[in-house]
Amino acid sequence: MFELNNKIRENIKKLVPYSSARDEYKGKEGIFLDANENSYGSPSLPKDYNRYPDPLQLAVKEKLSKIKGQPPQNIFLGNGSDEAIDILLRAFCGPGTDNVIICPPTYGMYEVAANINDVEVKKVNLIPETFQLDVNNILTAINERTKLVFVCCPNNPTGNSVKDDDVIRLLKEFRGIVVVDEAYINFSPYRSSIRHLLTYPNLVILQTLSKAWGLAGLRIGMAFASQQIIDVFNKIKPPYNINSASQEAAMLALDDIDLVNRSMHELLEEREKLAGNLAEMPFVIKVYPSDANFLLVKMKEPRKVYDFLAGRNIIVRDRSKVPLCEGCLRITVGTWEENIKLIDTLKEFTT
Ligand SMILES: *Cc1c(COP(=O)(O)O)cnc(C)c1O
Repeated sequence: MFELNNKIRENIKKLVPYSSARDEYKGKEGIFLDANENSYGSPSLPKDYNRYPDPLQLAVKEKLSKIKGQPPQNIFLGNGSDEAIDILLRAFCGPGTDNVIICPPTYGMYEVAANINDVEVKKVNLIPETFQLDVNNILTAINERTKLVFVCCPNNPTGNSVKDDDVIRLLKEFRGIVVVDEAYINFSPYRSSIRHLLTYPNLVILQTLSKAWGLAGLRIGMAFASQQIIDVFNKIKPPYNINSASQEAAMLALDDIDLVNRSMHELLEEREKLAGNLAEMPFVIKVYPSDANFLLVKMKEPRKVYDFLAGRNIIVRDRSKVPLCEGCLRITVGTWEENIKLIDTLKEFTT
């Protein structure tokens, strides 16, 4: 059985969270002299930002709730998913004692956040070429000090989705928390693991407005989990972790889901076209299938291609030294014009 209370660090369980002025008085009308804000306003800007933002971002969560089919109490908003990753480590992993499991090649922040928190990282590589989870080895690597398993689906930098059955098996057999990072889920033909939340209390799903929504600059990441887990997140987070301007912009963006879907369709068509064009290049060995907004491309002399492109002001990501991604560059799908420029430039590349 998964028992959340046995998993939370003792100091976090005992923590009395900071109580902000906006926590203590929630009314909207009145003369607010309780938070040492500047009642004279913000004279340097056309819009007033003199008031602290809603600590729990309820208006944004109401809109997200309709889109995601999850009650606001099951949603956490962070200053990017990166904040949620950091909070997971601080909530569940004792520095110098506990460990987490990651499945390389994968998103680099899990390891960095664990290192910052002095939490041991155990690595169980994905299966070569298919980049699926090696569930047997993950289960073997788990010990009584393992608190989190990070699964990235679709995975960065490989672009594939991992099998739902494998995620379910982890959820069933691991008594800690399975974190499924779905930063790229909107580009994928597969369904989100959100539908498993009611069945598995040890599931935490991460999503973000940075990718499909095109709002990386706002820094808004989401976590979906049981209310008990979300309560723990809210206890730990800085009181005003999402600023007013970001909350306002998110409100506007979330009204326009049709626009987002349309631009995503265009992007997916571009991805397939780009994949086809890249596959025809004489120096390209393999374009891996992608459920995300980027392509992992194995080629002869990746560093030369990288430098050639960089010299022509086209910047891609060199993943060629990453274990299991040897020889690969990761290329984000650009606009129609950008992709044409990329392909035309690559046609000039000769080894
Ligand atoms: C881009 C990305 C994120 C998004 O991080 P934010 O902090 O929300 O911008 C999260 N996870 C993965 C795997 C990513 O590639």
